[in-house]
Amino acid sequence: MAKPCVFCAIVTGEAEAHVVLDEPAFLGFLDVRPVFKGHVLLVPRTHLGTLPDLPAEHRDGFLAAAQRIATAVKDGLGAQGSFVAINNTVSQSVPHLHLHVVPRTKGDGLRGFFWPRTTYADGEAASYAERLREALG
Ligand code: AMP
Repeated sequence: MAKPCVFCAIVTGEAEAHVVLDEPAFLGFLDVRPVFKGHVLLVPRTHLGTLPDLPAEHRDGFLAAAQRIATAVKDGLGAQGSFVAINNTVSQSVPHLHLHVVPRTKGDGLRGFFWPRTTYADGEAASYAERLREALG
């Protein structure tokens, strides 16, 4: 039997969470293990796995809710800014779409989002760009 979804349980109220944003299609609540205090997760109420699964009619609302939360961590918590991210499948520990809004302040010491960098060989960037343009239609 499939494991019950913890974020669906939060949406229905079966599991506890500190809800910060309650909208007909979306719910925002505190991450139980925050990167920094005030770290919010925004989820669609409907169970969806990843960002590509989000129906078109919910895209604007989802981003608008993320904007409101990113503003709230500044206005409400005094953060200077935020880091906004979605793990899709890889590094995604809860298989229900969720957008992280992590409050950020200069000098807060966050090191976890420094990614290794690479370089393109001659002509390689053009080929990657071409493949992406084709895929984007
Ligand atoms: P990710 O690794 O991107 O899938 O993020 C999943 C996040 O969900 C992690 O930051 C967890 O701390 C958080 N999380 C897991 N279970 C709960 C829960 N019951 N309530 C609030 N946050 C949770």
